[in-house]
Amino acid sequence: MKKQEVKYCPICQSKNMGVLTKQNYFCRDCYVEIVITKKKAIYANFNSADGIKVKSIKIG
Ligand SMILES: [Zn+2]
Repeated sequence: MKKQEVKYCPICQSKNMGVLTKQNYFCRDCYVEIVITKKKAIYANFNSADGIKVKSIKIG
């Protein structure tokens, strides 16, 4: 049973989410990576086209 599941993108509201792991999701529309920490904090990682992390913001 998954406790934390990201059903839509918190940035662009798209439901086109991909699942990497239980704590790791990505949006296929805006390419943001969503990371849920063990303390249930949610971070959005914005990556550049070559995969380098540009910035990380706490969203939950
Ligand atoms: Zn998105």
